[in-house]
Order: sequence, then structure tokens, then C-alpha cells
Amino acid sequence: MKDIYQRKIDYLRLSLTDRCQLRCHYCMPDEGVEWTPLDQLLSFAEIKSIVQTFAELGVSKLKLTGGEPLLRPNIVTLISELKAIKGIEEVTLTTNGVQLAEMIDELVEAGLDGVNISLDTLDENRYTLLTRRNKLDAVLTGLERAIKSKIKQVKINCVLAEEINKDEILAIAQLAKNSRVHVRFIEYMPIGAPKPLTPISEEYVRQLLSQHYGPVKPYDIKLGNGPARYDEIAGFQGKIGFISAVSHHFCDTCNRVRITSDGFLKTCLYFNKGVDIKSAIKAGNLQECILEALQQKPKQHRFSSNDEYGSREKKSMVQIGG
Ligand code: SAM
Ligand code: SF4
Repeated sequence: MKDIYQRKIDYLRLSLTDRCQLRCHYCMPDEGVEWTPLDQLLSFAEIKSIVQTFAELGVSKLKLTGGEPLLRPNIVTLISELKAIKGIEEVTLTTNGVQLAEMIDELVEAGLDGVNISLDTLDENRYTLLTRRNKLDAVLTGLERAIKSKIKQVKINCVLAEEINKDEILAIAQLAKNSRVHVRFIEYMPIGAPKPLTPISEEYVRQLLSQHYGPVKPYDIKLGNGPARYDEIAGFQGKIGFISAVSHHFCDTCNRVRITSDGFLKTCLYFNKGVDIKSAIKAGNLQECILEALQQKPKQHRFSSNDEYGSREKKSMVQIGG
């Protein structure tokens, strides 16, 4: 399926819940988030019907997100059912990693192809300040178990910002040297944070890495679903990726749409536009509704613009799914 700018859409990010055990500063406020009532979350039957319809339209890659997707009861069963849908080639998950250690084996058994673990700091105090919860040990154990498990791909998502982790870039990159993980440095996006953070450029990171580890060379083989650009460094087991949505926007190759946990189809992270997909299921016109929404997919986001565009997204990242 293609949008009006001829971009091929083959990747769906689906949020399973807007709840989370952590409270990362850049993603959500500590208090005051209104959770979606549980009975308004998409049911498994609705999720399967949505994924089936997207698969018929050409989507082959699915990312489960949240909130924290591992908090959704029976997610293991859901994954095996989604993997069985014709046309779905890859089901992956992005998680804070808190419950990963105890779940990784059954997730792999269910057919999960890859896991992205969010990890912005290796320092316990800093982690606790950033996420407002003391869970670093559990996350590191989850990461270790994922690396040792049979899962095909393990990635670390690290949001970089001056205020968070500028002095830890090398330590975090080192994880890709010592183990089979790809480390992706994500530029902070101005969604959800009460006060803006100062991004760190990928050029700065590359220079720092090359000073310490030698040449950092572009790695042209595709490693994931989306916009990350990867580099390789001799002696590293994993690659180093960059997702710089603001400074190096990749809108012209955007291949994705998103569905929130309460069933709102978003065609761009930045804008609040979209359609209520639950009503479409009830009305029996899901496919038409998706195709119509796709025609509205904007050409590009406006993160770097200072104007107050009327339909700028006001939801927190936790409510959207990242
Ligand atoms: N709880 C899961 C996790 O942390 O991976 C899944 C949901 S989380 C919203 C998905 C991703 O969005 C995480 O990697 C997180 O670091 C990222 N994220 C959240 N807020 C962000 C922001 N303002 N800018 C850039 N990335 C953000
Ligand atoms: Fe939770 Fe993930 Fe948002 Fe952190 S980034 S608050 S772990 S949803």
C-alpha cells in the first residue's frame, strides 16, 4: 500500500497499553496522565482483525509497543496469534526491559523476532532519577537474558540528551562491542516532555566513537523496520544506529503508521490527526477507513518548526507508543 507521496507503507507500530511501571521524564509526566479505562483498550479480537487487514494491504512488519507492552496480560498468546497471520513476516517488541528476564524465553517460543530495550544510562542513581523508579538491575538482567536467548535480534534504544547521558556515550556504545546488540542513539523528540531537552548530534557521537575505537563506517545492510541509519566499527559485534528524527528527518522514506492502545490510527507522530479504528471495525469498513486515513498522511513532520500549527500532537509519548 502506498500513500499519495508514493511512500510504501509496510510497517505498523501497535500500542498494547498506555500504562507503564516507569515514568521517564522525556516520555510522560509523573502524575496527571489519564489512563485509558481497561475496557476501552483494543481487545485481542480487534487487534487481530486490524493486523489481518493491514497484512492484506501489504504490511509485513509489526512492532508492539506501549506504554509498556509486557504489562498487557496474555501478550505471549497474542504474539503467537499475530505471527500466524498470513503476510506478517516479523513481530518485534519495544520494552523498558523491567520484566524481560522472566518473559524472554516464552516470548521467543511464541515467535517474537526481535526486542528493543530502552536503556539511557548505566548509572543506578541517574536511572532512578530519569525513570523515577529504581529498576536498573532488572533491566540489565533482562538485557543479559535476551542476549543469551534464542531471539534473533536485540537492540538498545538510548535517548541521548545533554541533560541525561552525554558522559555515557562510550560506555553505552561499548555494549555493542562486547555483545550481540545493536545500540541505537535516538534524538530526543519534543513530545511528552514537560521541558525540552538538549539533543546531542549524531556527528558529535560519530566523532567521539572514532576517536576511541577507530573508523566509524556506514553499514548499508538494512537491520530493522525503519529509519535508523547504522554504522560499523571494527571489533564491534553489534552496529551503532542513529535515529535523528528532528535534525535528519527521514519523512521522505517514512514507511509506518501507528495505532494507539485505544484504537486511534495515526499516520504521523507529530500531528494529532487520525481515525477511530474501533468504529470502523464495528461498521465493517476497516479497510476503506485505513486507505482513507493513508491519503491524509502528511508529507513531513514539523518538529523543528516553531510555529503553533493547530493540529500538533498534545499526547505524551506513552499514550502514542513512540
Ligand atoms: N515502554 C517501552 C519502552 O520504553 O521501550 C515502549 C514505549 S516507549 C514510548 C518507546 C520508545 O520511545 C522508547 O525507546 C523511548 O525511549 C522512546 N521515547 C519516549 N519519549 C521520547 C522522546 N520524547 N523522544 C525520543 N524518544 C522517546
Ligand atoms: Fe514507560 Fe517506555 Fe515511556 Fe519510559 S519510555 S515511561 S518505559 S513508556
